[in-house]
Amino acid sequence: MVIYSGKSVFGGIAIGKLYVYTKDDSMVKRVHIDDPEAEIERYHKAKEVAIEQLGELYEKALKEVGEDGAGVFEAHQMMLEDGDYIDSVENIIRTQEVNAEYAVAQTGDSFAQMFLDMEDEYFKGRAADMHDISERVIGVLSGKGNGGIQATEPVIVVADDLAPSETVQMDKDLILSFVTVHGSANSHTSILAKTMNIPAMIGCEIPLDDSVNGKIAVVDGFEGKVYVEPDEETMAAKKKIYDEELEKKALLERLKGKDNVTLDGQHINLYANIGNTKDLGLVMKNDAGGIGLFRSEFIYLGSDHYPTESEQFEIYKTVAQTLAGKKVIIRTLDIGADKQADYFELPKEENPAMGLRAIRICLTRPEVFKTQLRAILRASAFGKIAIMFPMIISLWEVKEIKKVVEEVKAELDEEGLNYDKNIELGIMIETPAAVMVADELAKEVDFFSVGTNDLTQYTLAIDRQNDSLEKFYDSHHPAILKMLKMIVDAAHRNGAWAGICGELGADLSLTKEFLAMGYDELSVSPGRILPIRKVVLETNVSEYRESKET
Ligand code: PEP
Ligand code: MG
Repeated sequence: MVIYSGKSVFGGIAIGKLYVYTKDDSMVKRVHIDDPEAEIERYHKAKEVAIEQLGELYEKALKEVGEDGAGVFEAHQMMLEDGDYIDSVENIIRTQEVNAEYAVAQTGDSFAQMFLDMEDEYFKGRAADMHDISERVIGVLSGKGNGGIQATEPVIVVADDLAPSETVQMDKDLILSFVTVHGSANSHTSILAKTMNIPAMIGCEIPLDDSVNGKIAVVDGFEGKVYVEPDEETMAAKKKIYDEELEKKALLERLKGKDNVTLDGQHINLYANIGNTKDLGLVMKNDAGGIGLFRSEFIYLGSDHYPTESEQFEIYKTVAQTLAGKKVIIRTLDIGADKQADYFELPKEENPAMGLRAIRICLTRPEVFKTQLRAILRASAFGKIAIMFPMIISLWEVKEIKKVVEEVKAELDEEGLNYDKNIELGIMIETPAAVMVADELAKEVDFFSVGTNDLTQYTLAIDRQNDSLEKFYDSHHPAILKMLKMIVDAAHRNGAWAGICGELGADLSLTKEFLAMGYDELSVSPGRILPIRKVVLETNVSEYRESKET
């Protein structure tokens, strides 16, 4: 048995034969040509074919791994159309009077080097994309096809690094795991592995030759190790974990498409929390009933300027359209405290968690607030959007917010722009003050969503960022559980629905309790939806209530 270590990018166990994947890297030759303009035309034709191929790959990936894994092919199409890249190829052909294959290879190498020289790990990872698009064009120019896996049974793919176009062409049913010598945690291979739910490792010093090719191995993605020709004891131990994992996955898979209904007929909505459009693939894959919390501040945090109305509109529209009629709750900007964006120029504060943040910024800077509301409302014409406001403490704020919403609606009406006239408005309940005036607040809104992360912080007076207070922190503190019951009751008394979107909503040991309290919705990270559904399906709420009383 030989053991190779690396960095795990996705957990899980794979058992099978190793398949060493090597690229068809026949050298590109430099050839003198007499007619550079004709050669440039040949290059453009090849580029168009490559773009077409990428369009097909996009469609294929979309079906197999969803938007998340497919996006790269759209990005590659854009890279091929990049003006600097094209100028470079044309220049080389013209000035050096060389063949298009050579000019493309040269351009690909120098652009890749430029990315490798960058500090940022993400950009370093883009070097592989540069090589990938260049190899594709060269493949078209030279009439060569693109490789795949020539295996008759599922294998553990071992490679130096894998380009997205290589992974997508591989038959997914033949891949048990990815192990690469190079590659980054941001690489598309690891994104793909996560989406495919198979173990993957990078940075593994495994030889890419016959010393491993075809041999039986175990990849343990939990510990980041490959066991080549494992001994009996290792194999038995790994097989045991493998079987347990398989059982868990199969059980959860079977829950897809099922209604979230308890044994005694109580229904609950299970929605997903997301921070950006990249998470949409997971939302769909995990069978979420909608999005219960879209943390829109990540759009602001990822930008070096106030995101414009049209920038935001495009994002919200994409989310609404992808969810195709399922509910998408967009939380307005929750910036401040630990989430800072320089261009906001927020004042330095002694106590930022209790300072100018979230709705307080929106009500102080109406132009920022209105821009976001316009974008959300306009996107509401493309799906089922609801708006949620964070960090509420008073009735006054809610009334003020509603005034601004009405102003924005009137502006849109005047401009003849479409939006959902019945759009739902809700608030986050994440301060003790909001809990205490929940009845009054509920009369003003369509729904409540409890932000247990902040509610716990403000109720227990424990900074959510401070690890050293762990001893004092109790997420199941009776004060929080009592508040959760008060909140849902206040909502229902006043004709509003109630959900939980803080981390506590995903706590499986409380699912029964939330059902018993009468919550209408839980919004959790996508991977938690099926495990919660499992508990819901196994619960009898009336029996649970009775058991608590006795
Ligand atoms: C919360 O406070 O529970 C919440 C969902 O919002 P955030 O974690 O983004 O503050
Ligand atoms: Mg919060």
